[in-house]
Amino acid sequence: MNFSGLNYNFAQYEVDEKTCRIDMNKVREIALREKPRMIIAGFSAYSRDIDWKAFKSIADEVGAVTFADIAHIAGLIAGKQLENPVPVFDIVTTTTHKTLRGPRGAIIMSKAAFQKDLDRTVFPGIQGGPHDHINAAKAVCFKEALKPEFQAYAKQVIKNAQALAGELMGRGYRILTDGTDNHLMVVDLRSKDLAGKAAEIALEKVGISCSRSTIPFDTRKALDPSGIRLGTPSLTTRGMGEAEAKLIGGFIDDAIMASGDEAKLAKIHGQVQELCQRFPLYV
Ligand SMILES: *Cc1c(COP(=O)(O)O)cnc(C)c1O
Repeated sequence: MNFSGLNYNFAQYEVDEKTCRIDMNKVREIALREKPRMIIAGFSAYSRDIDWKAFKSIADEVGAVTFADIAHIAGLIAGKQLENPVPVFDIVTTTTHKTLRGPRGAIIMSKAAFQKDLDRTVFPGIQGGPHDHINAAKAVCFKEALKPEFQAYAKQVIKNAQALAGELMGRGYRILTDGTDNHLMVVDLRSKDLAGKAAEIALEKVGISCSRSTIPFDTRKALDPSGIRLGTPSLTTRGMGEAEAKLIGGFIDDAIMASGDEAKLAKIHGQVQELCQRFPLYV
């Protein structure tokens, strides 16, 4: 729906239907067939670490530029918990407002050969005047990300995601790829009597925000898909650990099972509030 999808000719690769992981042999097959000028990797709903070197070697084989969009996982890379594409790829972009935990904004990193073209395209190409307050906030964000505490934070984000995924799998939920290497997971709700939109609404009512999400090869519509996507960065920032992540897995299951029962949902909401009060945002 975005203009980038209208202006450029994208050939898609996808995950394997069973494992829900990217099959690098398929990526190579498609690249050899399509001969793309650029190969893009980086995702918003993929819970496994990315093999940047494998993408790079395919790109070299077909003469393509490599572009990584690490918007979701930049904080976990800066926190040294996931593979870093910066030494490998030609161009790396990220937002600063997701796991990097800074202000809403973005940065572009590139090899020197692309610098002039990128600079000219950003300004005067598409950007207006500088947002100095955002630039200052980005500087604070980068300084925080350099601290050892940020590595501990990134590590805990992942531990919490694994604890949450484990709790949900124990309660009979299918998690795509059977777990997670990062901060997020996509839950396939097809084994439950509730689709993504109704689950999102039930969870909102108990004070848990999530995104409805399509699952690979989803037969439902994008606006009411078969899954939800969950993540642990913000609860980790509040100081919660694995015990709380498991507790939240229980709240999520309870809320999904109680969908439509306002009295039960209100009771779960009380439990969520009680947990949040134990871990205030500002102390
Ligand atoms: C979030 C995200 C972006 C940026 O989207 P915003 O709407 O600006 O937050 C870009 N690429 C990926 C892969 C993302 O997940």
